[in-house]
Parts: sequence; C-alpha cells; structure tokens
Amino acid sequence: RQAQYRQLRDRPAVTRDGVEIALQLNAGLLVDLPHLHETGAVGIGLFRTELQFMIAERMPSAKDQQQLYAAVFAAAGDAPITFRSLDIGGDKLLPYMPRVEEENPALGWRAIRIALDRPALLRIQARALLKAAAGRHLRIMFPMVASTAEFERAKLLVEGEINWLKRQSSPLPERLSLGAMVEVPSLLFEIGEIAQAADFLSIGSNDLMQFLFAADRGNKLVASRFDPLSRAPLRALTAIVEGAAERNCPVTVCGEMAGRPLEAMLLIGLGFRSLSMSAASIGPIKAMILELDTRPLKELIRREMDHAGTYESLRPALTDFAERH
Ligand code: PEP
Ligand code: MG
Repeated sequence: RQAQYRQLRDRPAVTRDGVEIALQLNAGLLVDLPHLHETGAVGIGLFRTELQFMIAERMPSAKDQQQLYAAVFAAAGDAPITFRSLDIGGDKLLPYMPRVEEENPALGWRAIRIALDRPALLRIQARALLKAAAGRHLRIMFPMVASTAEFERAKLLVEGEINWLKRQSSPLPERLSLGAMVEVPSLLFEIGEIAQAADFLSIGSNDLMQFLFAADRGNKLVASRFDPLSRAPLRALTAIVEGAAERNCPVTVCGEMAGRPLEAMLLIGLGFRSLSMSAASIGPIKAMILELDTRPLKELIRREMDHAGTYESLRPALTDFAERH
C-alpha cells in the first residue's frame, strides 16, 4: 500500500470527471516539512504554530518565532503555507504560562480570545510572521473566531504591525491573506459576513463537530457518539461551502474529517475543492479521488439529503456508493 501511494505522489488529485482537488498537509514543526515533498501535497493548509510553544520550556522569543517561520518558508519552496495564529488554552496549556482555573476550558479563554485580550502575543507573532515572509505570500488564519467582529479586531492588530514595519522600512510580504477558521457554530449564522471580511476560510471540523453536538472531542464516552455524516453537520457544511462560494471566498477543510476517505468523498460531493490533512492520509485520499466520479455522488447526496424521513447518517449510503464505484 505504502509503495502504491508513493507512486501517486506526482499525480495531480483529479477525479475521473476532471474535478481537481487541492490536497494539503497539516503540520506544526520543522520536522513535518519533508512530508510536503514525500507526499506530493500542494501546500500546507494548516501550520499549527502553537506546537513550537508547547514543546518549549519558556516562551519562544520573537526571534525564535521568526527563525522557525523563515525556516518553514525555506523548506516549503514555492508551496503556499497557511499559518494559524496561536491556538492555546483549552487543552493546550503552556507550562510557563500562569494557569487559569476554568470550569469549561474548551469553552473558555483560548485561541483568538487570548489574542484579543492580550494583544502583545498576537502582535509579536504577527510581526515575526511578517518579517519571515518578506517578499513572499503570507497567509495567516485565526482560530476559534466566533464573530466577524472578532476577525476584524484581529485583522486590525496585524495591520498595526504592517504599519510599524513600514515605518522601519522593513521588507514586507509581497502579499498578505488573512483567514478565519470556521469551528465555532455561531459563525454559521454569519457565514456571508465572514466570507466577505476574510480572504479565505478553513473549517476546523474537530472543534466544529464538538461544539455543534455539544460533545467533548476528547471524551471517549461522547466523542464518537455523533456522526459527522448525519443531517445537521451536512447542512452546516453545505451552508459554509455555499456561503463561501457566493462571496468568492476560498474554503478549505483542515480538521481530521478531511483525512478520512468516506468523509473526504462526501466533502468533495458537497463542493469542497481543498482539503488539508496529516501526511499519512494524503495517499489514501488521493487514491480515492482518482477513482471518483463526482456526478453520481452529487446525485446521491442530493437524493439522501432531500429525503424527508429520519436518517441517522449518510454513512451506509456512501459506503455502498464507494463499494459499487
Ligand atoms: C479543528 O478543530 O478541526 C482543527 C483543525 O484544529 P485543532 O484540531 O488544532 O483544534
Ligand atoms: Mg480547532
């Protein structure tokens, strides 16, 4: 199997009916970068910057951050990289940061919430990214955005750093794109506004499913109780892909869902054209795409979703489709 997947490395991920899918890599440390070349992924769809912070014994300095980002750019060559700003808090604690006691850490002070309350953190990181990306296309996305207003506030912080660098006559990125992760369900109800405000969106399906079903993603008793292929998530995903398309806003799925063949097949059927996943998933997902015809798949999804009766999940119908095709 592994050898078989390696052979697919240089083949573009195009379905039998000619639909091209951008397969990207999830990464977080420099050691992940060789996977880009090994798998033939077209870019890094999610670079989890918090990993550098989690493995360090003290807060990485601005210089440490800039060095890592510059090394990532160098290792990625021309491939695009989407850096996610610090996603800490919740279950991702930093040993050197004072612990805040919270009753519900997943719903607590985390990610962009910390960034907006302690803007120095985001400003230092943004500056490190802007400097490391001199002359390149820099893509930054913010985690756990709950409203368009939050996104706008984070954007202002980054723009403040650009102005500062301009005053220093410091070299700037050739281009900057700012995106929002869609992983808090409130954004579903202003998908038009966020798609208008952001340069791109990326669905964090792990958190989106956790919050949609109010089921802790780390709690074995409930984590797999609800199926992402059931009605509510399908409608949520449809609303996102359609809302983004209406505003010409590119959208990627970067949660674990994108790396599972049946789920990825469904996402493609719903209209997603960019998926980001762990290195080990690229081969199997590409093999699936090369065998896929999206026309009967779309037909099947439409039929099943319009079906008025109760259904638990599209999983059996999709499994059957996958076996027959
Ligand atoms: C997600 O929530 O799906 C995601 C990609 O981010 P993380 O798993 O790092 O929370
Ligand atoms: Mg998340």
